[in-house]
Amino acid sequence: MKTLIKGGLVLLQDESGWRYEKQDILIEENRIAKITPSAVFEDCRVLDASGKLVMPGLINAHTHAYMTIHRNYADDLAFFDWLDKVQKVEDGMTEEDVYWTTLLAIIEMIKSGTTCFVDMTIKSAKEMTGPLSAAAGAVRDSGFRAVISRGLAGVSDSDESIMKYGQAVREMEMFREEKRLQFMHGPHAPYSCMADYLEKLTRSCKERGIGQTIHLSESLAEMDGIKKEHGTTPIQYVYDLGVFDVPVIAAHCVYATDEDIEIMAKKGVSIALNPKSNMKLGNGFAPAHKFLNASINVCLGTDGCGSNNSLNLFQEMNAAALVYKGANRQAQCVGAADVLRMATVNGAKAIGREGELGEIREGALADLILINLNEPQFMPANNIISGLVYSANGSEVDTVIVDGRILMENRKLTTINETEVFKACREIQDRLCMEKENRL
Ligand SMILES: [Zn+2]
Repeated sequence: MKTLIKGGLVLLQDESGWRYEKQDILIEENRIAKITPSAVFEDCRVLDASGKLVMPGLINAHTHAYMTIHRNYADDLAFFDWLDKVQKVEDGMTEEDVYWTTLLAIIEMIKSGTTCFVDMTIKSAKEMTGPLSAAAGAVRDSGFRAVISRGLAGVSDSDESIMKYGQAVREMEMFREEKRLQFMHGPHAPYSCMADYLEKLTRSCKERGIGQTIHLSESLAEMDGIKKEHGTTPIQYVYDLGVFDVPVIAAHCVYATDEDIEIMAKKGVSIALNPKSNMKLGNGFAPAHKFLNASINVCLGTDGCGSNNSLNLFQEMNAAALVYKGANRQAQCVGAADVLRMATVNGAKAIGREGELGEIREGALADLILINLNEPQFMPANNIISGLVYSANGSEVDTVIVDGRILMENRKLTTINETEVFKACREIQDRLCMEKENRL
């Protein structure tokens, strides 16, 4: 099956930066076969992209998709009070709930231009038999793309940890043949995983040739706790345990010190910034400009809906391009082009798919989005990169293609029944989020 995207303005990227030019794009199977001006090809489906920008789909480098159930549920609370409240709901979730809430997340991501996400799925429910499969199933059934990890916490030799670790490994194996799915380990954080567990998971990553993703230096409470217990920073602590000896996506790093930054640069750690979540939970602002100066691969995540409360990466890009300027009182700090790279090419690099995802080039996977430029927020089109970061809100996303397949066309989803997903999620809410004020 061939698809020709015709007449669009195409966003391209090379060493000299971003540029956009009129090009047609031919997709064969799941890859970009040709980028050429005024193409004429027989036997292909033609997508009219006139008046639209064709750009790489966005990559959400840190989220918890099942947490859509927590949307607008535990707001304006201190970090550990928040964690306590969302945990109670999590403990009641079944794998079927994880499936539906992950699908809800995928709907929101498709509609706001994301084509791939790095997920740390549910960690705390004790009775579940297949949470990672539930999240992976939602990705498989919707035609989406994801890197999934099971959130893991505890000590390595407790019955519960052994059970969950074994489960995660078995479930990764079950989905080995799914080409749109990758897996990582997901040690939750240095305050929730004991040292032996972190070491065990790192060994397991090495054996399986996978990476891991972990929350690091997110809050002051975490900094104080680790300092008290281990006499060091969370980043230095996990480095000493060897956690960075495999590819790592470290989420947050709000309180990273200059020494921590040196370590992460040396070890090639990718950092997923989550500026909205950090603000909402009162955790502050990561030293994003220092990460960039140290040539760290910085990518962008939304975190889960419990702490954002949105999975819209256009909103996140906007926040990222503003808050670090404000926090540092410096208008040159973290520019629009940097932020766009975080949400595309850098995200691809973080998941080991550099050159294949996050950019439009011949031979790359066809994960593309079409943006309607005939909207007031793009007028006049002085600078489209600035428009994407400072003016767009995600509603301009018109068509979404993942792995060569159209998942949304003219804002109509083609693979997911929204009504069915909304109904299922309302039923989960009825069962688990019982407060009266939440009922319609
Ligand atoms: Zn998180």
